[in-house]
Amino acid sequence: MSICSETVKCENCGKIHEIDLKVINTYYGEERQMGPEEFFVLEGDKDCDCGQQMLVTGTGWSYPATGEMEDWTTDDCEGCNTFEDE
Ligand SMILES: [Zn+2]
Repeated sequence: MSICSETVKCENCGKIHEIDLKVINTYYGEERQMGPEEFFVLEGDKDCDCGQQMLVTGTGWSYPATGEMEDWTTDDCEGCNTFEDE
């Protein structure tokens, strides 16, 4: 399984962290020409040195469905910001 990680900045103190995202669930999308698309629910958390709790969620996908993530994207951050948000 591919390993995902996102670089984020603590919302409280501005410290930069690398958060590893793990696959916590998978589900299938609509049936397409080569079968259904497979989705991976990703989640990772970390506590900053300042005490701030940071949570990152994302979605990965695979089409045709192979069980191996093809690519992924960050959906949401709590307590931190990705650099794309700025
Ligand atoms: Zn912090």
